[in-house]
Amino acid sequence: MRSRDLLKKYFAAGCERVPCNLCGADDTEVLLRYEFYDTPSETVICRRCGLMYLNPRWTEQSYQKFYEADYRTLAGEEDDIPFEMMLRQRVHGAEIHQFCAPYIRGKRVLDIGCAAGGVLSAFALAGDYKVCGVEPSQRHVEFVRSQLGYEVHEGLFGEMPLPRESFDLVILTQTLNHMLDPRGAMAAIRDLLTPGGMFFVEVQNFPEHAKRARIPVQVDHTYYFCAETLECMARRLGLEPVRTEVDTAAKMNQLHRYMRHRSASLHVRMLLRKTAPDASAPLPNYRSIRRQVRKALLHKGGMTLRTMRHKTRMWFKNAA
Ligand SMILES: [Zn+2]
Repeated sequence: MRSRDLLKKYFAAGCERVPCNLCGADDTEVLLRYEFYDTPSETVICRRCGLMYLNPRWTEQSYQKFYEADYRTLAGEEDDIPFEMMLRQRVHGAEIHQFCAPYIRGKRVLDIGCAAGGVLSAFALAGDYKVCGVEPSQRHVEFVRSQLGYEVHEGLFGEMPLPRESFDLVILTQTLNHMLDPRGAMAAIRDLLTPGGMFFVEVQNFPEHAKRARIPVQVDHTYYFCAETLECMARRLGLEPVRTEVDTAAKMNQLHRYMRHRSASLHVRMLLRKTAPDASAPLPNYRSIRRQVRKALLHKGGMTLRTMRHKTRMWFKNAA
């Protein structure tokens, strides 16, 4: 079945408009009217802070059903072998450990969305860490418990009670832009941190990703960040950046990342320290972010835009 046919039922269930998750405004401009799976989804940019997001989007219930039933098919992960995935993740985990190690003051590490446990495994191999994961996939939870012997909570983050102020490092990689409320998730993560605890977050760097991907947006990415919007959200919540790394399309060392993680995306990586919230942290410059993104999108020429508009019209016709 083609991806967009798989997704039709979620559109049929209705879509909803959402306010900006960073500044709370509902003042947007449309950036794109199509997405990777060929469905008529609109990606907008907030005119107050530059946060980019899918709007309108499916309902929460639809996203829940989608992640339970169709996400793995769409992402092509159905046939993944947990052991192989673990090895790939472990390489990534070693990089994360290197990035964070000079700043971590304790040993308790939590990986949210730990999948096959490879990131946790890298920490366990690197030192005397007490590692723990959260993972919704039962298959992966069983693998981590039986093969690696780590503690894993089965389910979605936010649906389970985790003890407050009990982790020295929380890790969240390539997940924030799938969430329906990234701000709420980051606030909940801050609550889990010990005083002075650290939060490592890695998310796609949209303005740079848009330079390389033919169609850089997809219906399961509800938010699109850049370093400025991520930092502002963090500071306002009481998470202060101590180390930041930004991938750019111009950097030539990206090929090895792709080879290792099978991910062609360019990311922002930030290590954030728990501190007092700074409600007055200035909002990013929306015009500057829009300029970067539009320039990146225009690089691909008008033909893509025209073709996609035609496809979108056909989609409506066929769906009717
Ligand atoms: Zn905003």
